[in-house]
This record gives sequence, structure tokens and C-alpha cells, in this order.
Amino acid sequence: MTVNLFDFDAEAMERFFAGIGEKPFRARQVLRWLHQRGEADFDRMSDLAKGLREKLRALAHVAAPEVVGDSIAGDGTRKWLLKVDQKNAVEAVFIPESGRGTLCVSSQAGCTLDCVFCATGKQGFNRNLTTAEIIGQLWNANRALGGAHGEQRAITNVVMMGMGEPLLNLDQVLPALRLMLDDYAYGLSRRRVTVSTSGVLPGIDRLRDECPVALAVSLHAPDDALRDRLVPVNRKYPIRDLLAACRRYLERAPRDFVTFEYVMLDGINDSDAHARGLVKIANEVRCKFNLIPFNPFPGSEFRRSGAERIRRFAEVLQTSDLTVTTRKTRGDDIEAACGQLAGDVMDRTRRSPPGALRGIHAIPELRS
Ligand code: SAH
Ligand code: SF4
Repeated sequence: MTVNLFDFDAEAMERFFAGIGEKPFRARQVLRWLHQRGEADFDRMSDLAKGLREKLRALAHVAAPEVVGDSIAGDGTRKWLLKVDQKNAVEAVFIPESGRGTLCVSSQAGCTLDCVFCATGKQGFNRNLTTAEIIGQLWNANRALGGAHGEQRAITNVVMMGMGEPLLNLDQVLPALRLMLDDYAYGLSRRRVTVSTSGVLPGIDRLRDECPVALAVSLHAPDDALRDRLVPVNRKYPIRDLLAACRRYLERAPRDFVTFEYVMLDGINDSDAHARGLVKIANEVRCKFNLIPFNPFPGSEFRRSGAERIRRFAEVLQTSDLTVTTRKTRGDDIEAACGQLAGDVMDRTRRSPPGALRGIHAIPELRS
């Protein structure tokens, strides 16, 4: 099997070209063809000499996950189902808003962390995605949305909030993040690329050292007793340590705050007292809150907090001068929920019947 050029960030690409006796600028040329023009066929890379194109054909290939589903919701939210192997498929979701467009990208097929309110966690862990499978989601969406044909780029922001825990797959996620930022690839600013974690501390420190982008942390509870139940990884990395890691992160982060995601579960974590607990946490680290109305799925044991409860919860935070946004539900007519995929490709490639409502997208609103 030859190497997949989608696995390479700029440095790896330069090493590859050096290894075959070519100059470093060839690496940049090929990065541009692949990621800016969306071209995967070496023969169409017209400014490469014929000999080099032949060499590339012999030694390398270019492969992104195969699109096996593509649906658009009434509100413009678009979801692709991408097959990564015979058993696994992942989702990427594009959310257009005025002045920007956000792509939600997956990092693993399944997840090991088993948060009790998350369909991806319930489905178990299949495997890490490769760099090519991660950046392939952006490559595909960018092409589909016209960004590779010289039209204005539709994707202005990327959030790693699809299936999986990105900080448990950093070896593959980091090169993909670097490609998102690279001027020869997608050229996004660090502020517009967000990694969301349930609180994997060593990963937060490594991200800070190797590729600091905007950070979102799935908090979901103001105290350890409750968070231990909702987000089991808290038993290993409790809130106090998590906040210390957030403070360390902010020393290098492109933004001066962490976004705390908070899923609103009726009667579980949504009281005024819980909100006051969050105010205490906010005294310890510069942050903003994003409230995510719980997104039910078959077999889930929770209910979404009512609209009035969510409003009141936000008000408690706001009266303490905290910035709070509440996630709007998007794409609910196409099951556009991050991490609602069960892994069985055959079952999921069928289009849902009109009006079917399986999930509502869980992407926080991250203002830039
Ligand atoms: N593993 C990472 C990123 C993927 S999940 C993390 O946990 O942060 C993206 C966000 O969706 C997280 O905040 C997660 O807690 C939230 N989420 C998961 N299941 C949800 C559900 N059923 N309803 C609403 N939000 C959910
Ligand atoms: Fe994994 Fe995130 Fe789902 Fe938790 S919320 S199970 S960390 S994908």
C-alpha cells in the first residue's frame, strides 16, 4: 500500500518530498492542489513535471472517506455520512449562519468515555480515525460547498465536536489541525478552530504545547459528585484539576477564555443552585458558557430541560456578569446530531422518512 497524502501535514509532506529527492516547494504545491483546489488526481496537477507525476502515482495515493449520505435540512444545515471502512461511518455537519459557516468534524468512530447522555458513548468505541479521515471530512465539505472552485469559502470555522474524543486521538488529530491552519491548505485562524474535550487533562496540556486552538470543555456539572455520574472521566480528572489545566491552557490559547459546554438535563443539572455552582467555577478561570438543550436519542434516560428553565438558568449566570449562549436546534429534520451514528453503514445510508426526528445538533455557538 502506498502512502496517503491526506495523512501529511506540511512538515510530513516536505519530509516525503525530500525522501524522493524533490525540493520542499513541491510539498507546498501539492498541498495547494489537494486542499485549496480540491484536486486529488496527480495528472491534473498541471504545474508538476510529468516525471514527478509518474513518481507520485507509483509511491502515493490520495484517499478521503467515501460519501454515502448527503442531506440538507430546511434551515440549510447539511450533513454528510462518510464511510471510513466496511464497518464504520462518521458524520460531518455544516451549519450556515449569517457571516460564517461552521463544520463539525468527527475524530473517532465511537468513543471510550461513555458519558451517560451521549449516543456516541453508548455505542462503544470502534477505532481512532486517521489524519486523512479527519481532514477528508473538511476536504469533502469544502469541495461540496464550492470552496475548491474559486468561490468564496463557505467554511469559516471548524469545531471538533462530532463523534469521539479528539484529545484521545491527538497523534492523528494534530496533523489535521495543522492543515486546517496552514496557509497552503485551509488557512483558518486559530480562533476559528475549536477542539471540544470532556476533560482529558494530558491532552489539554499537549494541545497547548503543540497546537493551541480555541478550547471548549464539556463541563455539564458544577461539582464532582454529579460530574462523576454524568462524565465518568471526571473520576480520573476531577474538576479542580480540570480548571488548573484550563488556566494553563489560557496562557497560550488564541482566545482569552475557555468555552464551557453544559447540556441541560431536566431535573438533573439544571437548578438555580447548579447555576450558582457554575458562577463559583467562573471565578477560577476566564470562561463563557454554552448551554446545550439535551438531545434525546432512542433508549436515552434523560429529558431536555424546559425552555423557561433554560432561560432562568442562563439568567442566574448573566446576573453574575457571565457570557452565556444557548444552542439553537439546527438540522432537526435530517438527524443532524453529532454522534448519533450507530456505526452500521447499511442501515444509516437510507434517507430518513420525511419528518423523522432523531436528533438535534449539539454544536455550541462559538462567536468569533
Ligand atoms: N468528545 C468531545 C466532543 C464531542 S461531543 C466532548 O465530549 O466534548 C460535543 C458536545 O456535544 C459535547 O459537549 C457533548 O457533551 C455534547 N453532547 C453529547 N451528547 C449530547 C446530547 N445527547 N445532547 C446534547 N449534547 C450532547
Ligand atoms: Fe465521548 Fe464526548 Fe460523547 Fe462523552 S460526550 S461519550 S467524551 S463523544
